[in-house]
Amino acid sequence: MSTPSPGTGRIDLETLLARIEGARTAAGRTEPVRLLAVSKGQPAAAVRELHQAGQRAFGENYLQEAVAKQGELAGLDLEWHFIGHLQSKKSAEVARHFDWLQSLDRIKLVPLLARARPPGREPLKVLLQVNIDAESSKSGCTPDQLPALAAAVAAEPALALRGLMALPEPDAEGGDPRAAFARMRALFESLAREHPGLDTLSMGMSGDFEAAIAEGATLVRVGTALFGPRPG
Ligand SMILES: *Cc1c(COP(=O)(O)O)cnc(C)c1O
Repeated sequence: MSTPSPGTGRIDLETLLARIEGARTAAGRTEPVRLLAVSKGQPAAAVRELHQAGQRAFGENYLQEAVAKQGELAGLDLEWHFIGHLQSKKSAEVARHFDWLQSLDRIKLVPLLARARPPGREPLKVLLQVNIDAESSKSGCTPDQLPALAAAVAAEPALALRGLMALPEPDAEGGDPRAAFARMRALFESLAREHPGLDTLSMGMSGDFEAAIAEGATLVRVGTALFGPRPG
């Protein structure tokens, strides 16, 4: 892969993985922490380049853009995660085109996803998105809604419940997302007592992935730090 151009704040994949690993060991955590490369707004060529450097998991927010990119990259061994706000009219397509859905936040989407998942494929891996700062403008269910949503997903053989995702507002709580990350970990641990298959806590982005790992993230979603600013 090309070396990052100076001044863009980009980190190359190897350095990013080393920082993730450093944060994991500093936190005394034994379980692995995975990297999701967030490729929204980036061309297929940028995904191909990171794939050549060894990255497999990519995250997309916009269905049309993602499906076009997947078409251009057909044949590569890639794992696609949908991380954007999910509209009901788009949910069937997400169930057909993705390996993971990280942004499930409403119970009414559950049967739509399950019905659309192609029978020959393994279950769609699902994370429930939690609105951890109670920002009314954002997607995500409330912590109170989690048990019922989790039970609905767990009851569908075409879906596999794997954990939780959060996108804390960077400016909430004085710019320190740690309290929100810690609340997510507590929610995750309590839900995992009911659902032993849960293994994924997705939180942390370019600006705060090390803090998220310190608070228990098992998957971080990094876009701009890896690809540079999104074009356009
Ligand atoms: C865009 C996005 C990211 C990546 O954000 P960066 O700041 O570019 O690292 C992570 N998660 C979600 C849900 C996003 O929409």
